Amino acid sequence: MTEFHKEQCFINGEWLGKGQTPITNPANDVQIALVPNMGADETKKAIAAAKAAFGPWSKLLAKERSAILRKWYELIVANADELGALLTKEQGKPLAEAKGEIMYAASFVEFYAEEAKRIYGETIPSPYPDGRIVVIRQPIGVIAAITPWNFPAAMITRKVAPAFAAGCTAVVKPAPDTPLTAFALAALAQEAGLPDGVLNVISGDAQAIGGAMCESPDVRAMTFTGSTAVGKILIKQCADTVKQMGLELGGNAPFIVFDDADVDAAVQGAMVSKFRNAGQTCVCANRIFVQSGVYEEFSKKLTIEVEKMKVGFGDEDGVTQGPLINDAAVAKVERLVGDAVGKGASVTTGGKLHELGGRFYEPTVLTNVTKNMDMTTNEIFGPVAPLYKFETEDEVVELANATEFGLASYFYARDLGRVWRVAEALDYGMVCINSGILSTEVAPFGGVKESGIGREGSRHGIEEFTETKYMLMSGI
Ligand code: NAP
Repeated sequence: MTEFHKEQCFINGEWLGKGQTPITNPANDVQIALVPNMGADETKKAIAAAKAAFGPWSKLLAKERSAILRKWYELIVANADELGALLTKEQGKPLAEAKGEIMYAASFVEFYAEEAKRIYGETIPSPYPDGRIVVIRQPIGVIAAITPWNFPAAMITRKVAPAFAAGCTAVVKPAPDTPLTAFALAALAQEAGLPDGVLNVISGDAQAIGGAMCESPDVRAMTFTGSTAVGKILIKQCADTVKQMGLELGGNAPFIVFDDADVDAAVQGAMVSKFRNAGQTCVCANRIFVQSGVYEEFSKKLTIEVEKMKVGFGDEDGVTQGPLINDAAVAKVERLVGDAVGKGASVTTGGKLHELGGRFYEPTVLTNVTKNMDMTTNEIFGPVAPLYKFETEDEVVELANATEFGLASYFYARDLGRVWRVAEALDYGMVCINSGILSTEVAPFGGVKESGIGREGSRHGIEEFTETKYMLMSGI
């Protein structure tokens, strides 16, 4: 079996750097690894390695790149249990969710192994009698990827798998809380036969690494998943070298339950959409709008379901919610709940730190939430379900769209006319109807407004890693 528990960075096929920064288990603060703290110099080295690897890698046949990606996919799947356990240890999410994330991460590698062979160009009827117009798509070059801690595996493969399929090479900076999963994925890629320099993973000082990536004219695309605030910094930093930008940023998802909804299904949908990963996903329901006719029923039923949740260490049997990632996350949730309660919200369950202490927060339902409360405009990023009451379709569409974000949205309704009207009126990159979960490798994931630029997954996810070249063949 592959030894993929690495505590070093991966540059040009070599494991480098000595342990300086402790990585801890968020459930109990116990140190689980010491990883290097790299900066601008190592980043430049990694970019140079990726640049050198680009020529040979991009010249391989698509079928050859595809075979290596396929092998990587198979190794990830074969090691899913161990990878899941590692992910739980450094990130905290329950084991079942962690394994689910590993399989989700693998699905991007599988999908883009197939897609590598389908990077089609086009021919265009020519306006010139002696000319022919051909359009081809070529890999953009070296790409830089910066990823967050909430999906330590999937956010990496969702970016690098399409890049590799297109023929690009990559320098990746994982989140500082969760580099071990990233190193493990790199070890498996190496075993799959990915040539040296195609994938480089460096952990350390975000500003130094990010700065070197943004400044380098050799990096042709920046793909980032994280907060809108950092996304804006990266846009500014990449302006001087005019890079292609792929940005998956913050969200403020509305979850709407209309009077004609199947309320039980809506409760189940809210459970997954809100409480997966302890509420720490960019597509988590952040504002739950319930029409007045079903408000009482929905809040009672949701409270009953939430009370069934089991909080604890992610690797314990039956646990459905782990800890929050760090102390700042706990403080933010406490502040937002305190603000809401202070302004008149009622707690039907939860509402405080869990008895386990540390970073464990009770799964919470709040009723009588109103738009003047801070959680209306902030990503809660915690296990708190705020219920707002509304009366009409027009009112709720306006409320749902009253945010600078536009990533995921959800609604439950059965009237077909309403389903179309609302789906078209929601100003979001993704609309999930009568379900609480929508992420899949085959569909384009991404947001509008300040939630980002570009799409990941599906055939669209490869586009930002290719350039379109127009060739006029004349003199025929
Ligand atoms: P974050 O604070 O923006 O950090 C994301 C990554 O950016 C980390 O690796 C971070 O490293 C790095 N970073 C921070 N400042 C940087 C700089 N100046 N230059 C270069 N890199 C820098 O976000 P987070 O708290 O980890 O993740 C949560 C956010 O991600 C939420 O807003 C969530 O909605 C969003 N998200 C979006 C999606 C999506 O697909 N749209 C998916 C998941 C998460 P350091 O921690 O070392 O600073």
